[in-house]
Amino acid sequence: MSIRASVRELARYHFTPHADDQAIKLDQNEGPLDLPAELREQAIRRIAAADWNRYPELQPLSIEHAVAAKHAWPTDGVVVTNGSNVLLQALTIVAGIGQTVLTVKPTFSVYALQARLLGAELVEVPLAEGFALPTDALLEAMAGRRGVLFLADPAAPTGNQLARDGLLRLLEAAGDDWLVVLDEAYADFGRHDHAELVKRYPTAVSVRTFSKAYALAGVRLGYGLMAPALAGEVRKAVLPFSLSALQCAVGLTVLEEPSYVEARVALARSERDRLFQGMTSMDGVTAFPSSANFVLFRVADAAAVHAGLLDRGVVVRRQDHLPGLAGCLRVSAGLPAENDAFLLALGAVLERTSKAAAKVAATTGRPEVSHG
Ligand SMILES: *Cc1c(COP(=O)(O)O)cnc(C)c1O
Repeated sequence: MSIRASVRELARYHFTPHADDQAIKLDQNEGPLDLPAELREQAIRRIAAADWNRYPELQPLSIEHAVAAKHAWPTDGVVVTNGSNVLLQALTIVAGIGQTVLTVKPTFSVYALQARLLGAELVEVPLAEGFALPTDALLEAMAGRRGVLFLADPAAPTGNQLARDGLLRLLEAAGDDWLVVLDEAYADFGRHDHAELVKRYPTAVSVRTFSKAYALAGVRLGYGLMAPALAGEVRKAVLPFSLSALQCAVGLTVLEEPSYVEARVALARSERDRLFQGMTSMDGVTAFPSSANFVLFRVADAAAVHAGLLDRGVVVRRQDHLPGLAGCLRVSAGLPAENDAFLLALGAVLERTSKAAAKVAATTGRPEVSHG
């Protein structure tokens, strides 16, 4: 077969959709509610009015203008794509191929997958204690190489916010040799974003998405904020006409009426904190503090807890295949009733598994498995 070895050897993006559409879906960090009905109708009217027989804008300038206004950014420094993953790919094409993709691990899997797919050298530096930014090790990896550094902040799937002074040192060290991409998919839920920081560096990029805070994961819209000169290069790697008129119509509608987002974000934050508190008060669970719309947590047996939750109609995401995340699962902040159902189900599953473990210990004399 003429398929390149780097493609044949590549693992597929890891996601198993759940078949039960009645299940409580807390596995993809989506907004738990669709757009307000009025906005949906406005978007549909706009779609109806579009010329479907004509190509859309070559470069989606109308929506790039609207994004630029939102962030007080020069329009020619905004690159809008059909999902931010497409932009991550474009950044890998322009600065990774033939050079290096540098990132941390564990992190969002797309950076490494694209590096492997496109045949870039991949360097993954383990996160420091407490999932902290391993600044010195990253600086060491950058020395003598060129390429693109991908960092998610708030981090995914760990949820922590990275230290700003570390990011600053990396940006300073990047010079002309490195693009520094800050994937800010969860910035709306965090303490701060990095727009001001990115503005100061000609090779820094802030990647954003409409998939989380804007509750538009199904529409596929993302964008990058960067210096206009860099944007001009990145656009060469985005296929012409790749943002459809339909996506553009929906994006323009929410950018005109973004007021629904604030209350959604406030709810996601308070529900995230409630999930964290709820799990912290349970025996057998370690929840990790989060600045995103999800909480990472560790249990003794991730597979059993994942399956037990599924039996009770709650879908969460396994993360225990990732380096450093043995025993870890990730739950998205859903609606209050959904989070209540999750906490109740988790309590029941843990009680059952700890009873089962105690029974094994009693009958075999082996100590109960607990996890550290
Ligand atoms: C969800 C997510 C995205 C969003 O990707 P889209 O293609 O815009 O849906 C990007 N980065 C991270 C780290 C994410 O978790």
